[in-house]
Amino acid sequence: MTTFNCYINADEIKMKTTSILILLLLMSCKQSQPDWIDRQLHKELFDINLSESIETYATSENPSQIENTIKNLEQAKGYFDKVFEEKLNFAVLFVDNKNWNKYAFIPPPGMPQAHYEGNMILGLGKSMMATRAEQGLQNIPESELSNLKKYYGEEVDLDLFFRDGLSLHELGHLYQFYKTGKNSQRRWLDEIFGNLCQVGAARNMESQEVFNRMDSYQMLLVQQNRWGELKYKTLVQFEEDYLDVMKQGQNYGWYQTQFYLMAKELHSKYGDEFLNIFRDFLIDTNPTIIGKLSNEGLQELMIENLGQDAVEILQWKYETLNDNDLEN
Ligand SMILES: [Zn+2]
Repeated sequence: MTTFNCYINADEIKMKTTSILILLLLMSCKQSQPDWIDRQLHKELFDINLSESIETYATSENPSQIENTIKNLEQAKGYFDKVFEEKLNFAVLFVDNKNWNKYAFIPPPGMPQAHYEGNMILGLGKSMMATRAEQGLQNIPESELSNLKKYYGEEVDLDLFFRDGLSLHELGHLYQFYKTGKNSQRRWLDEIFGNLCQVGAARNMESQEVFNRMDSYQMLLVQQNRWGELKYKTLVQFEEDYLDVMKQGQNYGWYQTQFYLMAKELHSKYGDEFLNIFRDFLIDTNPTIIGKLSNEGLQELMIENLGQDAVEILQWKYETLNDNDLEN
């Protein structure tokens, strides 16, 4: 038996040690930022590669009119990375009306949504969601549309709201899902958080264009109060009939405007740091860690972690199904 094979000189030991160190370093880097993105969804999409910091895919090879959306998302990523002290990787999938149901979990096409595994789905081209909402504007007197037109121009294109504005909200959900997975105490808390992220990111952009468009449309919906018959109004219903609420588009929109008003007030009062406090609350109260809380138990922890004043702002005004409640 020869010892030749076992002979290693000092240089080789140094080289091997260095390689092992590099390997360990790579492994630890990978561990701090595991690839959580579900890449199965990208298989039939074009990798449009329109950003250095965000993965971008689309149902067409050269999609138009999404450069601004991507620029906004890059700014929002900068803001969230800083606020949450993350460097989050995620993917944005631009999906046209025709292919919507293949990628999104709920219609109509163009209603932005975040998946639990790192993907966000946004509309591409003139979305059905925006078309429907623009039809809704036709019932509103011209004189009441002036504020909206100030920020959208004469031809109001609501894809600028659903794709550009709400993508910030969906991105906020991704920063949440990355830490919490699909588990949360209440869906309405997740949605308050999404709205809080939407407001914080938009207010921190170089230009207030996105914020003004988002805010003028939401405030118009609030002022007009033309929701028709709302089947659901309570938070319990929002939890228990969530999918049905979503299917009743108007009803979901109504809930979201309530959450939006609360989020705006919370952000005005407590600033960017509150996003982090809120996300920590969602992480720490994950039901996989502490179990599902009763309303009382949840309220107690909210007061402890978010503060009494913030909990007052979060007080839900519509616990009964009385139509008169909607008027205040
Ligand atoms: Zn949401």
